Amino acid sequence: MPPPPIAAALPGAHLGMVVAASGSGGATPPRAAPRRGRRGKPGFSRRSAIKKSFHQEQVVFSTPVPADPTVAVIGGGASGLSCAFALAARGVRSVVFDTGMHGLGGRMATRFVDGGEQLVFDHAAQFFTASDERFQRLVDEWLDRGLIREWSGLVGELEAGGRFRPIPSLTPRYIGVNGMRPLADAMLPETDMIKVLRPCWISKLEPFNGLWRLFESEKPRGEYDAIVIAHNGKCANRLLSTSGLPLLTKQMKRLELSSVWALLAAFEDPLPVPRIDSHGAFEGAFVRDVDSLSWMGNNTRKLFPMQTGTPECWTFFSTAAYGKRNKVPQENIPKVAAEKVKEDMLGGVEHALGLSKGSLQQPIYTRVQLWGAALPMNTPGVSCVFDPLGRAGICGDWLTGSSIEAAVLSGMSLANHIADYFVSNGDRPEEFANGLHEDLNAVEGHDISQFPGLDTQTPQVAEAQLTPSI
Ligand SMILES: Cc1cc2nc3c(=O)[nH]c(=O)nc-3n(C[C@H](O)[C@H](O)[C@H](O)COP(=O)(O)OP(=O)(O)OC[C@H]3O[C@@H](n4cnc5c(N)ncnc54)[C@H](O)[C@@H]3O)c2cc1C
Repeated sequence: MPPPPIAAALPGAHLGMVVAASGSGGATPPRAAPRRGRRGKPGFSRRSAIKKSFHQEQVVFSTPVPADPTVAVIGGGASGLSCAFALAARGVRSVVFDTGMHGLGGRMATRFVDGGEQLVFDHAAQFFTASDERFQRLVDEWLDRGLIREWSGLVGELEAGGRFRPIPSLTPRYIGVNGMRPLADAMLPETDMIKVLRPCWISKLEPFNGLWRLFESEKPRGEYDAIVIAHNGKCANRLLSTSGLPLLTKQMKRLELSSVWALLAAFEDPLPVPRIDSHGAFEGAFVRDVDSLSWMGNNTRKLFPMQTGTPECWTFFSTAAYGKRNKVPQENIPKVAAEKVKEDMLGGVEHALGLSKGSLQQPIYTRVQLWGAALPMNTPGVSCVFDPLGRAGICGDWLTGSSIEAAVLSGMSLANHIADYFVSNGDRPEEFANGLHEDLNAVEGHDISQFPGLDTQTPQVAEAQLTPSI
């Protein structure tokens, strides 16, 4: 059962203040910049968005925090969900908005092709590790609830030509039992402290009378005491560009993101991958020295190890360098680009496995997808960003790294920060400013994430004894 609302913990907070917060003069709205398009006509262009974001006036909320505040969390990925979860644990209500058509999760994404009968692919996050005890506690809860399990399949490093070296699992690797998206969908507790609105794309933020008003296109989506930006990339830059939050906007714009292609492919017969006598065939491999490939994972073996006689579903990821060179609009991938990427990546699979050109069996199903904002390439190294004057914060993987663990910890951290700020009644904003000016430094890790405990750079086991799998 969630703890009682924060009202009890707020010094001087009472219902009258809710009215005061909604009264006029609650917030100083930003001055709207004139909207001009590329050719000087009214409209929207990237250049005008950038200009506006640097010339926005800071919005300042001066009304007391109401007795029972509500937070809008924009983004239902790992960070947004854990933020809502942790807010509820502190007695703060939230509404989570997410664009997901099929479910929550963002980059915790699973595709069920034939209704999940046979073809299931985790098509972004493949597995995760836990190094922080706060995250480990949550992971233990997920284990208890049967949402996740340890993945004991063979994982290692594959060099072009088929040389495979296992990476010992010093750190447990976890997966969603039915994939990553079902885990995301089940992450939130059943509680009236959290509402979820999906699919919903928040397109406008507006400070008004001491509250944040949200809109989906022109449709009002409620008024909130604070907002959380739990997503990044172009969408976030656009949303923030006219928000009256210049410091958040500036930090967000400093973020650089990689692009990674995903190829989902199902094969009638098992792929001829290297196997190790004691462990069998590998189920996941970080690929080295192949331009079009950085990871290959056998989702069927990973998710349904007992299943036999069904097609093998593989998720392949390109390198970030390949993604950058072959970037196209991700919402509208030209057919020729999709075909080229598919051929390049299947060629990469042959090269990685040491197969002769053209000898790989034809997949019975393929789909390519571009993660145009795949992983952060730089980070401010702070667990969350919070602007107390604007009552707005940012959480997400990129604030400390590039993993599910980083995203969850960031969401929790921002939730606690906001709850503490509410407890302070907003009286000492200067004490609550966080991460607004930090420089960003390069993120170390794999092209598809950071995995503490899985250091593939240093040899950890003797060279594997390889035998072909079929
Ligand atoms: C190819 C790939 C492979 C990866 N592999 C791994 C791995 O194996 N292990 C691992 O730990 N991590 C992996 N990661 C990283 C991991 O998936 C992310 O770090 C983590 O899921 C990020 O969570 P997040 O909440 O910060 O952002 P996201 O998951 O991106 O969530 C943001 C959400 O906000 C929504 N949104 C955006 N704009 C709006 C709007 N205006 N209104 C409403 N909603 C909006 C988005 O639709 C999305 O659902 C991988 C990532 C990629 C791309």
